[in-house]
Amino acid sequence: MTSKNEVLFQRAQKTIPGGVNSPVRAFRSVGGSPCFIERAQGARVWDADGKDYIDYVGSWGPAITGHADPAIVEAVREAALRGLSFGAPTEGEVEMAELICELMPSIEMVRLVSSGTEATMSAIRLARGFTGRDGIIKFEGCYHGHADSLLVKAGSGLLTFGNPSSGGVPADFAKHTIVLDYNDLGQVEDVFKARGNEVAAVIVEAIAGNMNLIKPLPGFLEGLRELCTKYGAVLIFDEVMTGFRVGAQGVQGLYGITPDLTTLGKVIGGGMPVGAFGGRRDIMNHIAPLGSVYQAGTLSGSPVAVAAGLASLKLVREPGFYDTLAARATQLVDGLSAAAREASVTFCADSVGGMFGLYFAQGVPRSYTEVMASDRDTFNRFFHAMLEAGHYFAPSAFEAGFVSAAHTAADIDATVAAARKVFGQLG
Ligand code: PMP
Repeated sequence: MTSKNEVLFQRAQKTIPGGVNSPVRAFRSVGGSPCFIERAQGARVWDADGKDYIDYVGSWGPAITGHADPAIVEAVREAALRGLSFGAPTEGEVEMAELICELMPSIEMVRLVSSGTEATMSAIRLARGFTGRDGIIKFEGCYHGHADSLLVKAGSGLLTFGNPSSGGVPADFAKHTIVLDYNDLGQVEDVFKARGNEVAAVIVEAIAGNMNLIKPLPGFLEGLRELCTKYGAVLIFDEVMTGFRVGAQGVQGLYGITPDLTTLGKVIGGGMPVGAFGGRRDIMNHIAPLGSVYQAGTLSGSPVAVAAGLASLKLVREPGFYDTLAARATQLVDGLSAAAREASVTFCADSVGGMFGLYFAQGVPRSYTEVMASDRDTFNRFFHAMLEAGHYFAPSAFEAGFVSAAHTAADIDATVAAARKVFGQLG
């Protein structure tokens, strides 16, 4: 029987580069044809061949209450009936802004955009406009969307100054991006000492989720906070992934650290395109039309997307939401770790809130270098065997995974049972 996924993939590649509209969907690093998804409900997705999977990608984070949550779908339907877009302000946007400010106390003012990329790109421009400085510090392996200044990664050296890692990023832009090692505060301190008056911002995935899951070492985030304050740089927590995912107040709530600016996306859109950046009022006052830093969007604050976001944020505020979510993630990582141990497979796993990391490595990685040393080939075999068995993990050894409130304890048990068999074949 011909697979409809494969037919669609062949067809897609003729008119869409790589057959996908976002590269990691293409299964490039794991090989094979991607699943073309036809529909999703709760913790499950169905592909074009009609096969269903327990889904641990969750649209890469937004689907925290499960796919096609009835309350979110209804909010979208109601909003759509009132009109799709007006290019004028709406009450929903005010409600959304008020809610974000209430839920994340470091945010005094917020601007809504349509993606995480726009949020981080705008936050960087704002930090530069506010400080009058050009330099930014980011960390290797942290992804902040695809704005030019942020598509710069380090090589493996101690400090790398501006090596573009994407084609098309002018070296003149890249030279302003200083790339350091995540969890190495000493490097940040050295850069600030040498050229602190050039640094507009430090942007960090406070818990990293784009090089698999990597948590900050004790003191790392606190140290960034102190250095930014000391040298007058803007501390930006990129919580596009972690916001309303690791807990009710994101990473900043977990660790009790107040960034100057925060970027959000994913969960705050409930599956529709919404991003946001916000923070200190004195900084946000520099955004147009109040100040000189320009930022705009035809569909920013889309009434339909905002309705989905408001419905999503309402659901995550229900008592006990994050306890259940974290319990599911813990059940998964504990179950997988035990199954791997039984089969003598080198494997470990970690989680925080509704986000988890799987590593084919001896210990949980704490740096980009450590995570890069994990066993990709074994991950790829695990990935495909699990997919075959109906369990859909992110198609890369370097992405975090997500559980939703729609995952039941029985779903997780089913995944662990399947993994036990797969580990048995890998060992
Ligand atoms: N920042 C982080 C931490 C992200 O995880 C992502 C997306 N994975 C982005 C920014 C970019 O968001 P978007 O894909 O919505 O542009």
